[in-house]
Amino acid sequence: MYDVIIIGKGPAGISASLYTVRANLKTLVIGKNDSVLKKAEKIENYYGFADTIKGDMLLHEGEKQALRLGVELIDDEVISIDKMDFFEVATSTQKFLSKAVLLATGQPQKKLRVGNLNKFEGNGVSYCSTCDGFFYRSMKVGVLGFKDYAVHEALELLTYTKDITIFTNGKELKLSEKYIEDSRMFRVNRKPILELEGKEFLESIYFEDGTFEMLDGLFIAYESASSVDFARKLGIIVDENSVVVDKNMQTNLEGLFAAGDCTGGFKQISVAVGQGALAGRGIIEYVKKTK
Ligand SMILES: Cc1cc2nc3c(=O)[nH]c(=O)nc-3n(C[C@H](O)[C@H](O)[C@H](O)COP(=O)(O)OP(=O)(O)OC[C@H]3O[C@@H](n4cnc5c(N)ncnc54)[C@H](O)[C@@H]3O)c2cc1C
Repeated sequence: MYDVIIIGKGPAGISASLYTVRANLKTLVIGKNDSVLKKAEKIENYYGFADTIKGDMLLHEGEKQALRLGVELIDDEVISIDKMDFFEVATSTQKFLSKAVLLATGQPQKKLRVGNLNKFEGNGVSYCSTCDGFFYRSMKVGVLGFKDYAVHEALELLTYTKDITIFTNGKELKLSEKYIEDSRMFRVNRKPILELEGKEFLESIYFEDGTFEMLDGLFIAYESASSVDFARKLGIIVDENSVVVDKNMQTNLEGLFAAGDCTGGFKQISVAVGQGALAGRGIIEYVKKTK
């Protein structure tokens, strides 16, 4: 059991971990290696560096600093967060429990262009299998995605229906070993998608090659799970693509905090680091209260 699990190892996540670990909180950071900061070749507006620095170098030094102080760091992708008595955070291969969770997953990056997707949101298009799977009992559903997250969602939907197709929208499946085996339970359609069709509710999915399939429901699990995906499932308030937090960086769900680009606003390293510090302090207070 961890005191806190931090999802994301960019400036916000690592900054928060420095505070929590130094306050003796058992701290786990789980992050993929793709902070947007990696793309920054020359940074000259971050405090303390007389010469320009590369984003990559700043990330590397941050990780080294966290490890030196005793933070546990795992290079992996989180595919689900559940809240029972404690938080259960799952990657493709492992599950962890914690008292608090910090979302520091950066700005959601999904560029999904499918005609009429917005039109059918809530009327056949869903972003949450846990919330909406029940409405599609024994129906024909699809999951739109190509990574572990999509297979995870398809597995969740098996409780309600066996008629499940994974639509990759022209991509090849990119799965970890564990999910390669699981993906064989589902049909996979790799055709690029043109648009969704239907009257009031979703009825069919059309592909760029002119073919189509009838469909009752489509669950979006594209790329990796983002802050907004986690928020939808946990019932956290979001404003457009940004997680809403209070002055301690806590969301409307007790024990769940968010910091950095995923909270919107001024997307800068200094802001992410500052919000990480505030979240760290908020988490320390929260965990002490629950002890
Ligand atoms: C090209 C470019 C140049 C920039 N230049 C500057 C600059 O000069 N100065 C400046 O101040 N700012 C700059 N920025 C902005 C700055 O990089 C961001 O504001 C900052 O990195 C935000 O930090 P963050 O920790 O919130 O998010 P990120 O740095 O994006 O980190 C998010 C972390 O979450 C992880 N993650 C996401 N989803 C999951 C998941 N499901 N499971 C596990 N891990 C996950 C990611 O892999 C990553 O580790 C630049 C940005 C870009 C793109």
